[in-house]
Amino acid sequence: MTPTAISENLRRIRATIPEGVTMVAVSKFHPAEALREAYDAGQRIFGESRQQELLKKIPQLPADVKWHFIGHLQTNKVRSLIGKVAMIESVDSIRLLELIDKESAAAGVVTDVLLQVHVAAEETKFGFTPGELAEFIATDPHTRLSATRLRGVMGMATNTGDTGHVSSDFRAIADCFRHAKASAPAHFDIISMGMTHDYPLAIECGANMVRIGTAIFGEREY
Ligand SMILES: *Cc1c(COP(=O)(O)O)cnc(C)c1O
Repeated sequence: MTPTAISENLRRIRATIPEGVTMVAVSKFHPAEALREAYDAGQRIFGESRQQELLKKIPQLPADVKWHFIGHLQTNKVRSLIGKVAMIESVDSIRLLELIDKESAAAGVVTDVLLQVHVAAEETKFGFTPGELAEFIATDPHTRLSATRLRGVMGMATNTGDTGHVSSDFRAIADCFRHAKASAPAHFDIISMGMTHDYPLAIECGANMVRIGTAIFGEREY
């Protein structure tokens, strides 16, 4: 992608995103120069899914970038990210959440997190089922968390062209959020769902955070 293409893409996408919906620019597999172009076009929130890649990019971008971690996070990599990421969107187990809390407390910071909900049958094995999430919020010691703020949920729809199926997945994630909200802390206010091919539908179904990569930066080369 040429620089102008990236800023052009951002401008075009922003025009489709209503006020109140936050766009995370998913920059995984793209070089720091591409992120810099997006930064220069006003983008401040970037999403990365691999710890090493993220740690490499952080010093290459200005300090006011807010990094969101969106990939599966192994417990042995938590410490390295604490204090460097603004949000971990992909908290997929209580064990991981408790570790993030412990490491954040030790570092003297508060980390915002989203709980990953698993509704799309075949897409990933990671995440809480809606039932597990409801049970955790209703009963578990989430109130004991001292250095973690539960900000909401993150999820993905099934990767299919069947928009009926996709929207029912998104509605399931949004329902999960609403159900949890009743017993969640006050700052539980984010529904992160929707990517390049399905974000308009996600917004229709209640997303107030979307994670867009390909439409901004072009195809990834894995
Ligand atoms: C890669 C990724 C995205 C962005 O996907 P695009 O289709 O490129 O927009 C969003 N969310 C997560 C969790 C991802 O891993």
